[in-house]
Amino acid sequence: MAFSTEGQQTEDYLFKIVLIGDSAVGKSNLLARFARNEFDQNSKSTIGVEFQTQKMDIDGKEVKAQIWDTAGQERFRAVTSAYYRGAVGALVVYDISRRQTFDSIGRWLNELHTHSDMNVVTILVGNKSDLKDAREVPTREGKALAEAQGLFFMETSALDSSNVNAAFQTVVKEIYGILSRKVI
Ligand code: GDP
Ligand code: MG
Repeated sequence: MAFSTEGQQTEDYLFKIVLIGDSAVGKSNLLARFARNEFDQNSKSTIGVEFQTQKMDIDGKEVKAQIWDTAGQERFRAVTSAYYRGAVGALVVYDISRRQTFDSIGRWLNELHTHSDMNVVTILVGNKSDLKDAREVPTREGKALAEAQGLFFMETSALDSSNVNAAFQTVVKEIYGILSRKVI
């Protein structure tokens, strides 16, 4: 609990959110776009970043999202249980121009559910929506999978910024809603 300068009580929320999905689907760039409004063609942003804390405004309340990036661990299929520990939200990402990354989603969801609470608020994210001519996964397939698994769904582009804020906002807003309902 914290107090603003006006003396009003404000809740101090910090939500851990994890980014998962195959290598090179754009996880690090989604985070770079969201937290720093940057994009990196060479994907160097993967290296060294463990998590980034981002302040967000949800219905007029300040909420902090602590967003974890895999730092390339997924290349070795060795994302550790510590990565998932305490997560309340997840962005499970594939690349709409590489079907193989969509086919991996089931495995990532299993891993998420093995290592974290079943109630973790999850959005399925089809990234690289700017690559229209190279699309291998139709929007309706992403949508159908999300519906079947009870996930939110959005297509994003870290390159042109499309839906990037919206994807993170959707998850944080839902978590915030669940927690504030619990308080009441
Ligand atoms: P990660 O391994 O999942 O963290 O993926 P990166 O963020 O490192 O991105 C892998 C590659 O895809 C890099 O060359 C990025 O420049 C590129 N990339 C990431 N997001 C997008 C996107 O939305 N559109 C396009 N066209 N390329 C992207
Ligand atoms: Mg990365």
